Amino acid sequence: EEEIPEDHPRYQDLLTRHRIENGVEKGITHLQGMHAEGRGSAFDYLLGEETIPSADEAERAAAAHLLLADHPVLSINGNVAALVPGEMVELADAVDADLEINLFNRTPERMQAIADHLRDHGATAVKGLEADARIPNLDHKRAKVDADGIYEADVVVVPLEDGDRAEALEEMGKTEIVIDLNPLSRSPQVAEVPVVDNIIRAVPNITEHARDLADAETDELQSVVEQFDREEALEAAEKRIRDGL
Ligand code: ATP
Ligand code: MG
Repeated sequence: EEEIPEDHPRYQDLLTRHRIENGVEKGITHLQGMHAEGRGSAFDYLLGEETIPSADEAERAAAAHLLLADHPVLSINGNVAALVPGEMVELADAVDADLEINLFNRTPERMQAIADHLRDHGATAVKGLEADARIPNLDHKRAKVDADGIYEADVVVVPLEDGDRAEALEEMGKTEIVIDLNPLSRSPQVAEVPVVDNIIRAVPNITEHARDLADAETDELQSVVEQFDREEALEAAEKRIRDGL
């Protein structure tokens, strides 16, 4: 990461790509993660590679949901672990959430590599390894979750999630916070809070909002949640992309 000069005009994009490459080398990220990264990078370019105002509002609503939750869980896949391991640990601490590894291409080796990687970044407990429950209506190998983790969570943060799994979690009645740069993708379309922003910017900003709201009364948190309009946020992101073109 030291090799990329910080004043490079595409610094963040190069850094992101570099982290995914490292993730693949370390056995944390599946090769398919490179494709997801490429797709995200294209959308980030179209969004101007910045947190647009509607995304900041979504991030504040996400923080309020997490603080109101009885049992919030942050879902971690190979790209998330490669891009924002320490930032996810910090967010989990700020809102008292569990971290759970949930992989599209699940192997024991990758599960272990990611758990170790998260612990290296300060995680004390990592869920997902038990896999003793199943998300209904999803094919068996992608449905594995922990009974005391995602399965019983009321609020879940699912960054860079595929559409089928996002839909299945939604059908379970969970409040879903999806972080995804493509506002037209199915995952943000089904989310209660679609965060259309790069995960590299989104997660630290959700944490900042959570710290800001830490002493807020339940009423205030609920009003932050209620003021957020998911349709408006999705439309604002799409408009930003179209205007940018
Ligand atoms: P589906 O319709 O099943 O959702 P998809 O094409 O969206 O299919 P994936 O390639 O698995 O499926 O999704 C990766 C998603 O993650 C893309 O929508 C992409 O925009 C998003 N993405 C990739 N990198 C980032 C990132 N750094 N921050 C936020 N979103 C990202
Ligand atoms: Mg998608």
